[in-house]
Amino acid sequence: HLPTAELQALDAAHHMHPFTANGELAQKGVRVITRAKGVTLTDSEGHEILDAMAGLWCVNVGYGREELADVAARQMRELPYYNTFFQTTHVPAIALAAKIAELAPGDLNNVFFAGSGSEANDTNIRMVRHYWAMKGKPTKSILISRKNAYHGSSVGSGSLGGMSGMHAQGGLPIPDIHHINQPNWWAEGGDATPEDFGLACAQELEQAILELGEDRVAAFIAEPIQGAGGVIVPPATYWPEIQRICDKYEILLIADEVICGFGRTGAWFGSETMGIRPDIMTIAKGLSSGYAPIGGSIVSDEVASVIAQGEFNHGYTYSGHPVAAAVALENLRILEEEKIVERVKTVTAPYLKEKWEALVAHPLVGEANIIGMMGSITLTPNKSTRAAFAAEAGTVGYICRERCFANNLVMRHVGDRMIISPPLVITEAEIDTLIARATTSLDECLAQIEA
Ligand code: PLP
Repeated sequence: HLPTAELQALDAAHHMHPFTANGELAQKGVRVITRAKGVTLTDSEGHEILDAMAGLWCVNVGYGREELADVAARQMRELPYYNTFFQTTHVPAIALAAKIAELAPGDLNNVFFAGSGSEANDTNIRMVRHYWAMKGKPTKSILISRKNAYHGSSVGSGSLGGMSGMHAQGGLPIPDIHHINQPNWWAEGGDATPEDFGLACAQELEQAILELGEDRVAAFIAEPIQGAGGVIVPPATYWPEIQRICDKYEILLIADEVICGFGRTGAWFGSETMGIRPDIMTIAKGLSSGYAPIGGSIVSDEVASVIAQGEFNHGYTYSGHPVAAAVALENLRILEEEKIVERVKTVTAPYLKEKWEALVAHPLVGEANIIGMMGSITLTPNKSTRAAFAAEAGTVGYICRERCFANNLVMRHVGDRMIISPPLVITEAEIDTLIARATTSLDECLAQIEA
């Protein structure tokens, strides 16, 4: 390929990056990733970088799986595209829907495919409103979500999300989306115990339902463990109370499993880890380990049977795309046959948890949270008061992320939280490397902010 400087110049001239200040990026020079294998990325300068984010939380089976490339090539030769609209379908979409139904808990037996998590959440908005209309309750149109949630970037899913920076641009949210607080005890729990705080956050759902009107609320959506918001593990009191409230007021529960699904939490779905019974689950990312763009909604028999009574005027050209579906099916085969989810639960997650939680001994780290293979540490100048840094939120997190990259480690920062979500196939030796590089980076970050 071209020399790095030329690639960077072309990128700066023509490529608008998502969630990036592109002007600043052009000054700094973008990093070009050229290859990857297992958990390791190689950049255009030949650096070997441990990817503790699995790309964007998605490369669950690790990079460089020949089987997935082979399946994609075979499917492209056989049937590169056909649609699933009207009265047609194809073998990969049939097989994948059946496999997902087999893996999903309870009566979540029906799959509506999309090209991404954002599209799937757009599907969910329309589907739950349509469901209630079909049930003779057309006023039930409000979806309740959470502040600081991320559910995608389309107009609908960006509205479901609760990120103020996103709402400030482009006219979000659309009507009839309401947000309650997230159970982020470290930042927002004040003097309450985590348990009391978790309960109070969940009870905000009940208050919102009562204020907005039971007859107007269609659904509540949340990730079992909030990912892009900063890997916020809710207190144990949170989800049981949310489930109780949804049951009591007949509110559909949508679990956004885009990150938590397909093994990330040590079970096939985060809903199982958190003990909840969703009516709909949003899936994407780990469904194909990021090898092909695909997402979807897994829908309960009850909701699907009501939707089936008429035509649901909704769908995407790439709903159930045959190449993406074939890749996803092969990815699920790998996850199953290599017992990757079981190994996370019994071997790698316990090993990572012990090492990750030990990071609280570092002077910069206030708390460490981890479930399965998704974890966060909160950086703080004062552990006992849970204080934030005097500098603008995210300044220290950014420095830490830059130190990580200099030490050949990809960790992401969300404000002043550092988060990880490595490929599920990471080995114990690679976890040791991850922790060693993270510790060096924290030391360097501390030295830099003290200087
Ligand atoms: N939902 C959650 C929880 C996500 O983390 C994301 C992406 O990060 C999405 C939805 C959107 O998925 P996509 O980027 O595939 O549109």
